[in-house]
Amino acid sequence: MRDETADEISRTAKKLGITLTAHAPYYINLNAKEQDKIDASINRLLQTARLAGMCGAYSMTFHAAFYMKDDPKTVFDIVKRYLKQITERLGDEENAIHLRPELTGRKSQFGTLEELCELSQEVPQVYPCLDFSHNQARTDGQANNYKQFSEVFERYKKALGKGALNQMHIHVAGIQYGPKGEIKHLSLKESEFNYKDFLRACRDFNVRGAIICESPELEKDALLLKKTYHGLGVTTKVAKA
Ligand SMILES: [Zn+2]
Repeated sequence: MRDETADEISRTAKKLGITLTAHAPYYINLNAKEQDKIDASINRLLQTARLAGMCGAYSMTFHAAFYMKDDPKTVFDIVKRYLKQITERLGDEENAIHLRPELTGRKSQFGTLEELCELSQEVPQVYPCLDFSHNQARTDGQANNYKQFSEVFERYKKALGKGALNQMHIHVAGIQYGPKGEIKHLSLKESEFNYKDFLRACRDFNVRGAIICESPELEKDALLLKKTYHGLGVTTKVAKA
């Protein structure tokens, strides 16, 4: 994306009152074995942060790394080291965008709820992007009812404080999965994803921020989520800052 395009997106979003988030390219692996792949990953993250900042996005997400059969703790330390470098660079550029590693759908990918909560506690400007469909896929179909969604919000709140629930970046979609986790995204109604329970948990935890629909039928499912959410009577609840 050219700078002029980013400026135009920023102007249009402001005019229409639309909140923006960004997704970095998929070709990122901070645990790559080759240094040039790591350098390219860092550059893609910095480039996304700069353009997203110009667009006026408050948050950007990305798939941080693959385990590459390494010990998850080792991968955690590597990801942490590079994210610290990146946030220092962004600090120099006065770019305060949230850097959000995504809760990933495949078991070969770095990014469990626990890893992301811990990482966010240790690196400033880093928060989890909670992908509830990926969480369902990588827990073999667990994490798909009201109690389990609530536990995710509880865990997030415990790690990052109650205020963090006011500014979240969340993904949902239907999902097909197997023993290794995510296979592909599905539209909500052709999947088992329990979006009604998910939205009830969002209401009860007074979740604020952006929920990005990543279903193959983006607009249709985004509207379904919005209408279902409003059907829960959320307008009667007032957020307490
Ligand atoms: Zn993603």
